[in-house]
Amino acid sequence: MHYTKIERESCIACGLCQLIAPNLYEYDENGIAYTVQDNNAGITPISEDEFDSFKKAYTSCPTGAIKRSTTPFE
Ligand code: SF4
Repeated sequence: MHYTKIERESCIACGLCQLIAPNLYEYDENGIAYTVQDNNAGITPISEDEFDSFKKAYTSCPTGAIKRSTTPFE
């Protein structure tokens, strides 16, 4: 299992993750990203179907704000 969340203070609102993985990431009125499924809690496993999109978004984020873990975030 893999989990993801956004380190929001590192996000520069470029919009890339939402374009690449719209089922995983959304952004607020300031353009700062968060995870759709659990409102950035990072406790919902990334589904098989979304994993390629996740990897693309993860490697595309210019600031490393997308975090990944094999255990749920606290
Ligand atoms: S790709 Fe990174 S910097 Fe761009 S909106 Fe997503 S989390 Fe923020």
